[in-house]
Amino acid sequence: MLDLAIIGGGPAGLSAGLYATRGGLKNVVMFEKGLPGGQITSSSEIENYPGSAQILSGLDFMAPWSEQCMRFGLKHAMEEVTRISKNKEGTFHIALAGGKSEEAKSVVIATGSAPKRANFEGEAEFFGKGVSTCATCDGFFYKNKEVVALGGGDTALEEALYLSHICSKVYLVHRRDTFRASPSTIEKVKNNPKIELVLNVSIKKAYGDAMGLNGLIVVDKEGNERDIKVPGVFVFVGMNVNNTILKQEDGRFLCEMDDNGNVIVDLNMHTSVKGLFAAGDIRTKAQKQVVCAAGDGATAGIQALEYVNH
Ligand code: FAD
Ligand code: NAP
Repeated sequence: MLDLAIIGGGPAGLSAGLYATRGGLKNVVMFEKGLPGGQITSSSEIENYPGSAQILSGLDFMAPWSEQCMRFGLKHAMEEVTRISKNKEGTFHIALAGGKSEEAKSVVIATGSAPKRANFEGEAEFFGKGVSTCATCDGFFYKNKEVVALGGGDTALEEALYLSHICSKVYLVHRRDTFRASPSTIEKVKNNPKIELVLNVSIKKAYGDAMGLNGLIVVDKEGNERDIKVPGVFVFVGMNVNNTILKQEDGRFLCEMDDNGNVIVDLNMHTSVKGLFAAGDIRTKAQKQVVCAAGDGATAGIQALEYVNH
């Protein structure tokens, strides 16, 4: 029986692991289906983590986090969790992909969020063959070529700036003429000579052949079409919370959720179920920032420690 199972190895899960193990919990396993680090590892840079004045890539920034946790005894199981349910005696059953399972006295859920798809024609067909959601991972394939970045939030604008250092030109395609991104980022994008703003349009379809994507047709509100011939389009249209592991056999969620599918927690990251905590992007009203996820994780780790000890 584990003292604590942490699901997800992003900033929230790693911080929960650090505080729980350093606080004395012995049998703590972090279930992370990939390498630890979370979604920030797909970001080209992070410049707003307090105290970290050097601008690093998301991957370099997160590398020391797991090293630090492992020093205090946190174990990483590279497994995908498929469902968490509560046993009659109050412990938790953690079902893993492949049919295995674990039991734990307490659980911190920190599964974060994942990129949404925009749902234009051809998006699924050319995914991985010209359509991507990660500029750090795939930007290099388009060195000195033209690409499209889709979206109007922080991610789209920041990644358009990143792509402008690699690609010959970036078309920033957005469905409105105002952005959600922070004012300083908008200013940088507007002043970048390699970024062309293509506003008030939606993508009608992506087209290509067996070799991959050849271009996009975008259309404005009057129905005027434009053909943008590019081998790559980066889709940055927001994130979905990863909450499916809380769905029970009867279709209901294990704990109380808000209307957007986020886990409802109190200020101590307690969910409506005793012994179950949630932290980071998955929890209701999250700021969706690394520093906030880390703070939530620390709180959840401390609270899980208290729950198990008492
Ligand atoms: P995540 O980082 O999403 O981590 C969740 C982890 O859980 C993932 O590693 C995932 O593999 C794992 N997981 C999910 N489901 C399962 C399962 N069933 N079984 C096992 N493991 C599972 N924030 C900033 O503060 N500054 C920035 O500059 C910034 N830039 C960003 C740039 C991009 C491109 C993106 C996408 C986000 C950016 N953010 C930034 C937001 C920030 O990354 C998130 O707020 C933060 O990572 C949330 O942390 P988390 O631990 O809650 O979740
Ligand atoms: P977001 O803020 O939700 O923005 C998504 C963008 O995609 C919006 O501009 C939206 O348009 C557009 N969009 C949504 N669905 C679309 C569709 N089907 N087709 C075309 N366009 C579509 O998402 P995000 O930029 O990924 O940011 C997520 C969170 O992480 C935010 O809280 C953000 O602040 C945070 N984040 C922070 C940083 C940072 O602090 N430096 C960096 C990255 C992300 P509308 O505007 O018209 O709705």
